[in-house]
Amino acid sequence: TNWVYTFGDGKAEGDASMKNLLGGKGANLAEMSNIGLPVPPGFTITTEVCTYYYAHQDTYPTDLKDQVTAALTQVEKTVGATFGDAENPLLVSVRSGARVSMPGMMDTVLNLGLNDITVEGLAKQSGDPRFAYDSYRRFIQMYSDVVLGVDHYNFEELLEIHKEENGYVLDTELSAEDWKELAQAFKQKTEDVLGKPFPQDVHEQLWGAVNAVFGSWMIDRAKTYRRIHNIPGDWGTAVNVQSMVFGNMGDTSATGVTFTRDPATGENTYYGEYLINAQGEDVVAGIRTPQNLTKASRLKAGSDMPSMEEAMPDVYGELADVFVKLEAHYRDMQDIEFTVQKGKLWILQTRSGKRTAKAALKIAVDMAEDKIITEEEAILRVEPAALDQLLHPTLDPDAVKDILTIGLPASPGAACGIAVFTADEAEELAKNGKKVILVRQETSPEDIHGMHAAEGILTSRGGMTSHAAVVARGMGRPCVSGAGALHIDMDSKTIKVMGRVIQNHDILTLDGSSGEVMFGEVETVQPELSGDFSKLMGWADKIRRLKVRTNAETPLDARTAREFGAEGIGLCRTEHMFFDADRIINVRQMILSEDKAGRELALAKLLPVQKQDFVDLFTIMRGLPVTVRLLDPPLHEFLPQKAEDFASVAAAMDAPVEQLKMRAETLHEFNPMLGHRGCRLGISYPEIYEMQARAIIEAALEVSRDGGDAIVPEIMIPLVGSRKELEILKTKVSAIADEIIAASGASLDYMVGTMIELPRAALQAGEIAHEAEFFSFGTNDLTQTTYGISRDDSANFLDDYIQAGIFEQDPFVSIDQDGVGELVKIAAERGRATRADLKLGICGEHGGDPASVEFCHRIGLDYVSCSPYRVPIARLAAAQAQL
Ligand code: ADP
Ligand code: MG
Ligand code: MG
Repeated sequence: TNWVYTFGDGKAEGDASMKNLLGGKGANLAEMSNIGLPVPPGFTITTEVCTYYYAHQDTYPTDLKDQVTAALTQVEKTVGATFGDAENPLLVSVRSGARVSMPGMMDTVLNLGLNDITVEGLAKQSGDPRFAYDSYRRFIQMYSDVVLGVDHYNFEELLEIHKEENGYVLDTELSAEDWKELAQAFKQKTEDVLGKPFPQDVHEQLWGAVNAVFGSWMIDRAKTYRRIHNIPGDWGTAVNVQSMVFGNMGDTSATGVTFTRDPATGENTYYGEYLINAQGEDVVAGIRTPQNLTKASRLKAGSDMPSMEEAMPDVYGELADVFVKLEAHYRDMQDIEFTVQKGKLWILQTRSGKRTAKAALKIAVDMAEDKIITEEEAILRVEPAALDQLLHPTLDPDAVKDILTIGLPASPGAACGIAVFTADEAEELAKNGKKVILVRQETSPEDIHGMHAAEGILTSRGGMTSHAAVVARGMGRPCVSGAGALHIDMDSKTIKVMGRVIQNHDILTLDGSSGEVMFGEVETVQPELSGDFSKLMGWADKIRRLKVRTNAETPLDARTAREFGAEGIGLCRTEHMFFDADRIINVRQMILSEDKAGRELALAKLLPVQKQDFVDLFTIMRGLPVTVRLLDPPLHEFLPQKAEDFASVAAAMDAPVEQLKMRAETLHEFNPMLGHRGCRLGISYPEIYEMQARAIIEAALEVSRDGGDAIVPEIMIPLVGSRKELEILKTKVSAIADEIIAASGASLDYMVGTMIELPRAALQAGEIAHEAEFFSFGTNDLTQTTYGISRDDSANFLDDYIQAGIFEQDPFVSIDQDGVGELVKIAAERGRATRADLKLGICGEHGGDPASVEFCHRIGLDYVSCSPYRVPIARLAAAQAQL
C-alpha cells in the first residue's frame, strides 16, 4: 500500500479530490502544488495509517518507515538541505489534517529538526543567530507541550521571569544570547518535569510528533468538536510533514491568514490579518492581536498599524493574485494561510472558508449570479440548519445600551447572558437552563464545550481569524474577540473596564456584528431578511417536490410561518387553544362534570371561542390546507392544582369543591402518556369531538362566505391504533359536518384523516386507510412508542447512549430511520396500497430537521410540517434532497 504522498516543487502525487485519504490540508497542499503555487515541499501520511494505528494498538504498518524515509529524502533534494545536518539542516512542520477541517482541535509542531547542533547550523546558514535561537525555543516549547505533555505555561513563566530580570517589556528586545539562554532553560525545564532529556535525535523527534498528531485524533476536545459537528470518529486524520518556511526572519518576513471574502458578512473583499516577524501559530492561536491585511480594512478599523498592503506592497500584490487564482480554481471562498520569508511568498494552506449563515447565503447567491456556480450548487452551498442564525433576533437599534467597550465583531448575532469565566462552568450552568456568556482572555481549543454551551463568547485577546473566532462562526455563536480594554482577572472572576468592575454572573450583552460589549440586557428585534434570502429560497422552491407546512395554532405563529413560506398548516393542536386564561375554567368544568349533560353545558360555552380560533386561522391561511387535530392530551393535564382554581370551577359549576376533588382523583393516571388521551377521549366522550368538528366546519363556512380562495379543513383524529376507532369517530364527525353543511346551503370540501403515531397504527395502515383520507405521522409519539422511551425522561440517559454509540443522535431530534422510519415507510406503502391518493405528511419535531426532511422526501411523503422558524430550513433541505 502507498501510505505516503509527496507534494511541492510544482507537482504532487495527490490532488484535491483525495480528501478522504490525504485529509483536507494534504489534498489541498497537493492541489496547490499541481497548479504551480509556491508550496513548501513535503509529504502526507494518509488517514489509512491513522485507522491502522488505532486498529493495531498504536503501531504502524511495517513498510511505513521506508516510505517516510524515501519521501523525506525527496524533500531534502528539492529543498537542498538535510534533515539533522549540522551545516545545513532541513526543518519541518508536522501538521494534522482531517477530511474536514477542525480548526485548532488537533496538534501541529513547527521547527522540528532543531537540536543543540543543528541550531548552530541554522544560525550560520541564515546569518541570523537570533532567529535560530528564537526558532529553537519555540520548537522546544511546542514539542514539549504537544508531544511530551509539558504544559506551555511552564515556558511562558520562564520567559516572563527572564524579561523581568533583564528589564525587557517586549519579546523584540531579547537578543540572540537571551533566546539561547532561554532555549537551554526550556530544555532543562522539560528534563526536570519528565526526568529525561529533551530528545536531540531528529528522527526520534519526527516520529514523536507523528505519534502525537495521530494521538490527537482521540483527545477530548477533538471528540467534542466531532460530536458537535457530526463528524464520524472513524475517519481519522492524516499527518503532513512539510519543510519549514520562516516568517520570523526579521522585518521582511511575515505570516498571515486571509479569507477571500468576508466570512462574517459574505462581502466580496479580502478579509485578512498578518504579523510581521512572526510564525503562523502567533496569528491563529490568538497570541498576538494581528494587523489588518488591506488598507481599506485598516482604515475601517481605525488602526494606525500599517496594513500588509502598505507595508509590503509587492508581496501583497503577489498574494492578491494567489487569492484570485485559488478562489477561481475552487469556485468557493477560501481561507488561506501564508508566510513571507525574506520577501518570498509561500502558501501553507487553503480550504473552503468557514462562514456565518449570512455570509454563506450571500456568497452562494453572488457566485451563482456571477455564473461561477449554478443555482443548484448555490442551494447546496448553504447548510439548512444554519439558516436558523439568520432568523434570530438582533439588537433593537433604538434600545438604550450601556456600552462597556467595543471589540472585534468576530461572529455576528446578539447574545445575552450571565458572565462566566470557565468553559466547565459555562457548560454546567447551561445544562441547568441558564444563558451564559463565556468570558476568556483568549479561548483555546480546550474551551470548545463551553463555547458550544454559551450564548456568546467574549475575549480580550486574539483577532478575527483566531481559532476562537473561526470556531464561533462555525457554531453560529455570536463572538466579540480582542476586546483589549477588558482586564479579565481569572482568579477573582471579574472584569475591569474603564474604571468599572464587572462581577462573576453579572449580565452582559454582546453584539457580534458590531463588536459592542454591553452591561445588562438589551432589547432585541426580529431581523430583516435580505434579498439574498428570498432569492435562494425561490431557487429552492423551484426545485423541490416535498411541500412544507407548519405546526401552528396561534394567529402569530400562523402569520410568521406564512411569511416564511409555509404551504399550509400540518398540525394545529387544539388543546393549546384550551389553556388560555379565559377558557380554562370552561375546560375544567367540562372535565369535572359527572355526566354528559354537564359536559355539554361546558362545551356549549367553549364552542364559540373555539370557532373564533378557527375563523382567525383559516383567514390567515386562506387558500392553503389546514389540518386540525382534535383534542389529544390526557385530561388530567387540565385539572386544577391550586385550591383557588378548584374554588372558581366549583363556583362556575355550582358544585361542592369536595366532589370536584374526588372526580379529579379518579382522573389521576399512572402513565398518562399511554392513558386516557387522543381518540380514546373521543370514544368515551364523543361530545368533545362533535363540538370541535362543529367549530371547524362552521368556521370554514363562515370564512368561505366572504369569497376568495377555498378553505379545505382537514380534520385529524389522534392516537388511533385500529380501523374501528377511526371508523366510529369518523362517522360521528362526518355526520355533524354534513349536517351543518347541508343546513348552510353552501358547499364545502373537508377531509377526515388520522395521525399515525402508534406502531400498531403503522402496521395496520392498510386497514386504517379505508377510513382515513390522509395520514400525518406524529413522529414524536411514534418515536416514544417505538422505542418505549419517554421523551421528557430521556435526558437522564441520552448522553450515555450517544457516548456509548447506541444512538448516533437524539432520536427526538433526527428521525431514527432504521426503526421509526421503517414504520413510517411501511405505513406509507400499506396506506397507499389501499387508497392511492392518500395524502401523507409528518408533523413531529423532525419536520424541521434536514436529515429527516431528506428521509421524508426519499420515501415519497407529500409534505413535512414543522415549527414556523424551521420552515425555511425545511424548504432548503427539501430542495437539497431533490438534488
Ligand atoms: P491548524 O490546523 O491548527 O491551523 P496548521 O497545521 O495549519 O494547524 O499549522 C499551524 C500554523 O503553523 C499555521 O499558521 C501554519 O501556517 C503554520 N505552519 C504550518 N506548517 C508550516 C511550515 N512548514 N512553515 C511555516 N509555517 C507553517
Ligand atoms: Mg491551519
Ligand atoms: Mg401525538
